[in-house]
Amino acid sequence: MSADRKPFFRFNPNAYEIGRAFERDEVPCEVCARPCIWRYTGAIYTHKAKVTVCASCIYNGDLADFLDDEFFTLHDVSHEKMRPEFEAELLQRTPGIACFNPFEWPILDEKPLAFLHYGTKEEAHHFDTPRVAEAMKREFSRYGWKEPYPLQYALLFKEVDGDRYRVSIDLE
Ligand SMILES: [Zn+2]
Repeated sequence: MSADRKPFFRFNPNAYEIGRAFERDEVPCEVCARPCIWRYTGAIYTHKAKVTVCASCIYNGDLADFLDDEFFTLHDVSHEKMRPEFEAELLQRTPGIACFNPFEWPILDEKPLAFLHYGTKEEAHHFDTPRVAEAMKREFSRYGWKEPYPLQYALLFKEVDGDRYRVSIDLE
């Protein structure tokens, strides 16, 4: 498979892991008419009905042209100010992550962080470092939560080109 059919999303680098944003599927992509190979399984927030789309068409912006909806988004999130060049990349060219409710996508120095892990049992070990513990504490204490924190509501983010971590909370 050529790399262009499985593009890398820097703000969602684990998007192809099982149960995340894509499934292997040969059905035709409605945007490029080729077999999807990686069919997007996440939500597309737009006025159109459900669209079958492949990973490449999300990555290269063809989905945006196809929908003809400048306000469409792949994310149910709020966020602080980010530089304009990141806005379309994150909201329209990065696969969304599964969430129960709208959550805050962390931004540092006006650049989005990358989503790495859910706080599920399988991924809990990724939260077991001092830097992540610090990020957990920062976020949960804002809500008056005391340790032990409910890891199942945590979403772990890390800077794309740095070492700072942030946690967002997605309550059921
Ligand atoms: Zn496509």
